[in-house]
Amino acid sequence: MEIAVVGSGYVGLVTGVCLAHLGHRVTCIDINLEKINKLRKGVPPIYEPGLDVMLKDLIRKKRITFSTSIKTGTKKAVVIFIAVGTPSKPNGEADLTYVENVAREVAENMHSYKLLVEKSTVPAETGLRIRRTVQMNLPKKYRNKNNGGLEFDVASNPEFLREGSAIEDFMNPDRVVVGVESKRAEEIFREIYKPLKPRMIVTDLKSAELIKHASNSFLATKISFINSIAQVCDRVGADVLKVSEGMGFDKRIGRHFLDAGIGYGGSCFPKDVEAFIHLSEKSGYNFILLDAVRKVNESQRRYFIRLIEDKLWIVKNKVIAVLGLSFKPNTDDMRSAPSVDIIQALQKEGATVRAYDPQAMENAQSLLPGVTLTKDVFSAVKGAHCLLLLTEWPEFKKIDFKRIHNLMQQPLVFDGRNMFADENLEQYGFEYYGIGRGIYKGERG
Ligand code: NAD
Repeated sequence: MEIAVVGSGYVGLVTGVCLAHLGHRVTCIDINLEKINKLRKGVPPIYEPGLDVMLKDLIRKKRITFSTSIKTGTKKAVVIFIAVGTPSKPNGEADLTYVENVAREVAENMHSYKLLVEKSTVPAETGLRIRRTVQMNLPKKYRNKNNGGLEFDVASNPEFLREGSAIEDFMNPDRVVVGVESKRAEEIFREIYKPLKPRMIVTDLKSAELIKHASNSFLATKISFINSIAQVCDRVGADVLKVSEGMGFDKRIGRHFLDAGIGYGGSCFPKDVEAFIHLSEKSGYNFILLDAVRKVNESQRRYFIRLIEDKLWIVKNKVIAVLGLSFKPNTDDMRSAPSVDIIQALQKEGATVRAYDPQAMENAQSLLPGVTLTKDVFSAVKGAHCLLLLTEWPEFKKIDFKRIHNLMQQPLVFDGRNMFADENLEQYGFEYYGIGRGIYKGERG
């Protein structure tokens, strides 16, 4: 199948590479020339495990090409995936400017049947708007549906991959959701995904769009739920790790997304929850549950900061070492990372922050002015008054705590992800605080 993917970011690039790996001929398009130039040389502009090797291999086999032009990049394509960003407007609504731009430009250059696919996360009814935009912007000779009109389809195929395990997720999906308006579009999807032998959920456009928003909102709800439980655990002296374990073995509940911490971040959950609240409001429904999910998430970061203030006592002029900056492990993505809010709050109080992250240093540079980014864990902790663990990178599991204890000014550790819960840091002489581990033992409310 000849496929074009417009937008070569975290989703578009992984989609393009994986589709090419499945045997399709793919053109990845992006307006960012720097990105495309890097990609042409086989260098991924983002960090995603396994991506660099696949990319180089596919370029060598001539199964993937790159372009900055929608006109040339979509010429041969039968299927065009739209994978551009859908950021939040100040009121929380999804900004669909990029999606509209792509739909219009594709239409203006269309001379044969195309299936336009929403891969980006978009609110319900976007598909209908894309169809309208395409119809109105086709070359004039193709506009009359009854006389020489050009056939095209619009479909929704939301993406559920997670950064950090994106290739694995794409290649082994729990399900592939497609929202279609024609049998022809459905058949094309079956052909595209045939090698994966996936469970296909075929539905209408709006339902497919809603599945994505509902799924992300539900996962965010689980996170806020367990974070609320963690708050109670801290106050009554219970251990949220045991509570999660005890809940998670119940098949009706499941263990995933029951990890208490400093709240969700990243480019999806905060934005998608906002967009879903907005969409519901617009449709006349007040989604109070999601409003609470958002508020709990915000309060969780504040809770962590208060804990640091409480145990560190005076924050001003203290040296704070931070391990992990990306919003989750195995990615360089810093968009809406909890680390940014937490570090900025401590800087505001006069702390000096030194931080280390295995992949996100380049992205962190512009987002965290004033933070000293160090070359390794040990340079970050040297002389520090406390250590914050903000992203649970697997390599932090193996750190030499004895050496860290020797290097630090004060042996104080705040673990925002409960990553070191089993390490018994007290044995090295640390005072250790996780989240929801019964810190206040019922002494404080
Ligand atoms: P991104 O910002 O990494 O990538 C978007 C790309 O689109 C950028 O490279 C940008 O230059 C390009 N672009 C913008 N306008 C363009 C145009 N007119 N023509 C060509 N390229 C254009 O974003 P992302 O994280 O890949 O997310 C894309 C969409 O996928 C969003 O709607 C997001 O919500 C959704 N999504 C993201 C994830 C994730 O984990 N990141 C997972 C599932 C769904």
